[in-house]
Amino acid sequence: MHHPIHFGGNDRGVVPVFSHASCLDHDTGPDHVERPERLAAVIEALRAAFPGLELRQAPAATRGQLLRVHDESLLATVLESHPSGRIPLDSDTVLSPGSAQAALHAAGAGVAAVDAVLNGDIRRAFCAVRPPGHHATASIAMGFCLFNNVAVAAAHALERYGLPRVSIVDFDVHHGNGTQAIFDTEPRVQYVSSHQLPLFPDTGLRLERGLGNIVNAPLPPGTGSRRFCEVWRERLLPELDAFAPQLVLISAGFDAHWRDPLAQMQLDAEDFAWLTGELVALANRHADGRIVSTLEGGYDLQALRECSVAHLRALSTD
Ligand SMILES: [Zn+2]
Repeated sequence: MHHPIHFGGNDRGVVPVFSHASCLDHDTGPDHVERPERLAAVIEALRAAFPGLELRQAPAATRGQLLRVHDESLLATVLESHPSGRIPLDSDTVLSPGSAQAALHAAGAGVAAVDAVLNGDIRRAFCAVRPPGHHATASIAMGFCLFNNVAVAAAHALERYGLPRVSIVDFDVHHGNGTQAIFDTEPRVQYVSSHQLPLFPDTGLRLERGLGNIVNAPLPPGTGSRRFCEVWRERLLPELDAFAPQLVLISAGFDAHWRDPLAQMQLDAEDFAWLTGELVALANRHADGRIVSTLEGGYDLQALRECSVAHLRALSTD
């Protein structure tokens, strides 16, 4: 199914959303949970909740932007395979005829959003894109991810704008192993994640600290609102405050919602709204309010609708 994404709108009270129609053309097959309907549901829910929502066209990332974090070999796999049908890269990651363009625009959304936020055009942005990114390493596409969208955005902030401190906040229920591996020897980037463990990809132990710039909070299956909020309030938000980032990037996965079929955490939309509000306050303290959030996982359509609306509402509130 291909829902056209209509661009435009100018609701000045609501954070702009970057997206691209090609993100619907990454065809993972009829039985895959990471499907085009996810993005269509998010866009439709946001447009319904925020009349006049400003939807901006995400450009394609350039080779140079991708090569800041990825190897030539991964670019060749994703961009030069030109499959005539679906080909598996591993047991759950698929390349289809439309995947290269989808991956380029998913990564380009974050770059364009960083440009808009750091040029002072806007203070915050949400990138409604797929495929997701946080499992992709420098050289390996995995876990439904082709390019690491948030890593490409962070590297752009470092290289193009010379920012000395960028924090990546990852509340997807899975650990962002790719993001961590890309930046675990990069002192200008802090990576802070809560995630279920055990769960794919089974990384993200608390003892994985990088240079001290990696902060992991693994949570057991069944974890609900109270424990989640406690961990963020007592450990993760103070680590973010201590780092004092000049830009906050969010890997916004909504698969820690109780309805999600891939994990067993028990959060609801209010929990994502609460954490987003805390991140807005953090960005206001250290980063002139600057946040770029990018969609990662979330595999129940109703949860995705509720959570993306709650997230954008909180991002739009000071
Ligand atoms: Zn996930």
